[in-house]
Amino acid sequence: MKNQTKAIDTPFGQRDAYGSLSMPVYHTAAYEFDTAADMADAFTGKVIAPDYSRVLNPTVMYLEDKVKAMTGAANVMALSSGMAAISNTILALSAAGKNIVTSRHMFGNTFSLITESMPRFGVEARPCDLLNLDEVRSKMDANTCCIFLEIITNPQMEVADLKALSAIAHEYGVPLIADTTVIPFTQFSAKDLGVDIEVVSSTKYLSGGATTLGGLIIDYGTAEGFGHKMKNEMLFNFGAYMTPHVAYMQSLGLETLDARYRVQSQNTIYLANRLRELPQIKSVNYVGLADNPFHDIAVAQYGKTAGAMMTIDLESKEAAFSMINNLKLVRRATNLFDNRTLAIHPASTIFGNFSDEERRKMDVLDTTVRISVGLEDMDDVFEDIKQAVER
Ligand SMILES: *Cc1c(COP(=O)(O)O)cnc(C)c1O
Repeated sequence: MKNQTKAIDTPFGQRDAYGSLSMPVYHTAAYEFDTAADMADAFTGKVIAPDYSRVLNPTVMYLEDKVKAMTGAANVMALSSGMAAISNTILALSAAGKNIVTSRHMFGNTFSLITESMPRFGVEARPCDLLNLDEVRSKMDANTCCIFLEIITNPQMEVADLKALSAIAHEYGVPLIADTTVIPFTQFSAKDLGVDIEVVSSTKYLSGGATTLGGLIIDYGTAEGFGHKMKNEMLFNFGAYMTPHVAYMQSLGLETLDARYRVQSQNTIYLANRLRELPQIKSVNYVGLADNPFHDIAVAQYGKTAGAMMTIDLESKEAAFSMINNLKLVRRATNLFDNRTLAIHPASTIFGNFSDEERRKMDVLDTTVRISVGLEDMDDVFEDIKQAVER
């Protein structure tokens, strides 16, 4: 069965009592058992039966089952946000005295988690240039617990060589963790590129028009003990499991993800090319453009589409602010892959609490505006951006 059919037609784990065609939202905290022995079997994991919705819920399990069927993963865990998926993965793999080899180019909260929060628990952050494999190797040692990266960094739009980094991680017997939020897992196989654990902010493509916050951990079963630890320790002790209503919305979003993504990625390449006509825009950064420095590796790794996130650079921070203020159609908002086109100035918002020096090290420029491309007619979006930079 093809992936898109699985997105729609993966059967429920157990037939609904009324034959409901869409997965019911099991809005319940707890479940009743016929006997003490049945209860003991569920609590000790001898049978997979929900006992408490912090750890298992049929609606959430259904979303997990669909993603598992579509990715061929060994385990899929749905959590309450992308950050919950990332933080729980890192907490499961690390311990005091361990270190994380990673990049300075990534989403602001993830960078802050790894470089500010984790060091308070004795876990060292080792940011480096993931495009320089010698530098990566020089950061690895017996205490490294993982290599962590984003597949197209947000907002620098850098693409590292996943197979090469996976080989280095595996030399040291540790997993390569990839945040694959910006290209949906329907488009490429992270596993084939050597990724051991995929983390996703399902708030973005999956949620279906920015309806809900969520996160996924997609575990390919190659990081020893990880799936077991997630299900038997992290969900119990850290309590960040997805809630059933969110799982219902995201399961619905997953059904239309491919249809939306095809249009949004085509819209993005169209808009990227048109924005190059405007002299006020100094550069358009989108890996889908054939002359982008990361185009070839992005095509080789992720296929022909390049997502729906681009950045543009204007002459100055003032020009960037003025453009954002002049927008009439494009919304001034964070988030990615909403149905609406969104614009944000990353340096003063997502990275607003970092110092100038830190932003400089992360290559977050104050001339950059990030655009998440939606499902509107792109001629209207182009005209709006055109009048916004011309005014
Ligand atoms: C949005 C985002 C996150 C965080 O996800 P939330 O669902 O907002 O917690 C992590 N990584 C990337 C690449 C993102 O775009």
